[in-house]
Amino acid sequence: MTTEHPEQKTLPATIHWDEDGQPISTQFDDVYFSRQSGLAETRYVFLQHNQLLPRWQQLSDHQHFIIAETGFGTGLNFLCAWQQWLEVCKPTQSLSFISVEKYPLTKTDLEKALKLWPELQPLCEALLRQYPPFFTEGIHRFNFAHGSVQLTLLIGDALEQLPHLALQQGQAGLNNWSVDAWFLDGFAPAKNPKMWQPELFTTIASLSKTGTTLSTFTAAGIVKRGLQAAGFNVEKTKGFGHKRDMLIGHFTNTPSTMPTIPWWQPPPAMFNHSLNKVSTKTTSIEPKKEAIIIGAGLAGASVAYSLAQRGWQVKVLDQHAGPAQAASGNRQGMLYTKLSAHQTPLSQLILAGYQYTTRLLPQLLPSEVHQGKSWDNCGLIQLAFNEQEAKRQEALVESGLFPAQLFEFQTAEQLTAKAGSHIQYPGLWWPTSGWVWPQALCEAMLAHLNITTYYHQQVTSLVLQTGDTEQGWHVTTADQHWQSPHVIIAAGHTCQTLLPDVELPMKAIRGQVSQLPFQGLSPKTVICGDGYISPMVDNVLHVGATFTHDNADSTCTVQDRHENLQRLSQLIPELYERAENTLDPDAINNDKVGFRCSSSDYLPIVGPVPDQPYFIEHYALLRQNGNTTFTTPPPYQPGLWITAAHGSRGLITAPLAGEIIASYLAGEPIPLSTEVLQAIHPSRFLIRGLKRRQI
Ligand code: SAM
Repeated sequence: MTTEHPEQKTLPATIHWDEDGQPISTQFDDVYFSRQSGLAETRYVFLQHNQLLPRWQQLSDHQHFIIAETGFGTGLNFLCAWQQWLEVCKPTQSLSFISVEKYPLTKTDLEKALKLWPELQPLCEALLRQYPPFFTEGIHRFNFAHGSVQLTLLIGDALEQLPHLALQQGQAGLNNWSVDAWFLDGFAPAKNPKMWQPELFTTIASLSKTGTTLSTFTAAGIVKRGLQAAGFNVEKTKGFGHKRDMLIGHFTNTPSTMPTIPWWQPPPAMFNHSLNKVSTKTTSIEPKKEAIIIGAGLAGASVAYSLAQRGWQVKVLDQHAGPAQAASGNRQGMLYTKLSAHQTPLSQLILAGYQYTTRLLPQLLPSEVHQGKSWDNCGLIQLAFNEQEAKRQEALVESGLFPAQLFEFQTAEQLTAKAGSHIQYPGLWWPTSGWVWPQALCEAMLAHLNITTYYHQQVTSLVLQTGDTEQGWHVTTADQHWQSPHVIIAAGHTCQTLLPDVELPMKAIRGQVSQLPFQGLSPKTVICGDGYISPMVDNVLHVGATFTHDNADSTCTVQDRHENLQRLSQLIPELYERAENTLDPDAINNDKVGFRCSSSDYLPIVGPVPDQPYFIEHYALLRQNGNTTFTTPPPYQPGLWITAAHGSRGLITAPLAGEIIASYLAGEPIPLSTEVLQAIHPSRFLIRGLKRRQI
């Protein structure tokens, strides 16, 4: 097996530094910014000519402003916009910056480039802290300034990536967001003709609304004509420095929405309970930025944190005495990512989630305090422990889709050196992975000031009231009652009991983890095969986990402990021998049973909850013809959302799922492709059921 990546998709920028220390792209043979003054050029071309300052001064208290850019490059435009935003914004307003980049700078090059701007240093440092050591193609979400400044970075070709966002918008009337101002950067058309194509201008138009502005450093006729053809009113104005002209414009058409299938369309961003089921006409009552979340495990804490960062007031209810007591209750959860060489939706989700979680961890659990206690990026080994797994790993490496910094194939000897324990198989080495204490992560997320937690609260009823008063969801427990326009159900395998009139195919899968008191024999990394073992914490080694369907028994069994001990023989043979000689295999007191919640297709369930009876009636013709076209949006339970069925990958998928639901609710771009959003959409089971005539 080779570790070379001949067709690796995301190539980093290759940069030549001139005598003044300015970056020049060798891929495009062009400068990243004006040699005269990049900072002044950005302020003149992009900030001033989109009239950002006066427009921001007129924003209302809770307004959100969206900038989109072609060509992230060194991030200079983003940082300048962010700096100016800080001068005028109110704490309740937020800025969303979307950028697309085909050749992302390496972190080393970015660090060098940003040294050019001492006056932007605090913002440069914040960007560098989160900028990853490698990128994969797709959408990446970064949050800065306590969530009030958001960067959605699309890695890949602008012509391929921007349509993912355009597809999110659905049809007229339901558009949850559009771009307010465009920064058309991306090297001169003469140097980069492949980017400045009519398709790019059409996508830009479909992401715009009447009044959206644009500016660009170029005055090339092909750009001017292309933008005009797409519906922009474009004019020339004086260029920066020695440049004679540049272009500015504003969108005059109504946006041409990209074709989309109606049943995937999201509901209106925030719910206003004076709406009826299918109408989207709003009333004068302002929807409130308030939500109740049922469940304080990884799924619930994640969505609470993402909403709280957006200024929402969030109440989190849980039946247990504290957070992460059910499926998220293990002392060590593995950042285990099983990718596919076929880029399946699950694999895309896992890859995006892994990168999101690993960025979030050091922000929420700073290494200085938490390393080795609450989490550890000690690295993770995936053993090629049988032929099937060896083939899967080989296909992954050969696909060339993944950067070597994400994982590398290594021999058993190399892995032995990493683990500090004898490893008998070759396998994949994941240097940035490791383990996390889910409870610590949940506590850190729930500590946000906008979140109030209520424990020992088992929800007994969830009812929507639609009358003139008391509108919204009414949530009741044995001794308390709450009301909110938005409820997010994040209660693991108990979700089904709470869902009004909807059946989502979820099941509980029992898992027992064994805790072994081995002194001085800890592996230095996580080792995964047909199970896992993680580095010792609190003088205990954790080995897991069993996987049992149709078993609701929460007591530990001797049989499961034996199974886990058997796992050791594959993971670390010397530990297995030691266990055989010294451990009482029947001592199950320290073991722990949990129930993972999984869906029938093993993908999480994340999104708005459909109104099932109405949905089936609405799309009934699908039973006769799966290709029937519909033009009306799907009926949802107003203001009701779900994040569940994260299986044993809650650490990987739940934080990103939280960000997805919060982005839907806040009317922001959603950091996943439409293909993956549809694969995890709660309505997918109904659509499949109708097409297969099962419902
Ligand atoms: N806005 C940047 C900044 O603030 O530093 C400078 C952008 S630089 C002039 C142009 C960028 O566009 C480069 O980083 C280049 O890799 C990127 N680019 C060029 N063609 C592209 C394409 N087709 N899709 C996405 N990015 C592209």
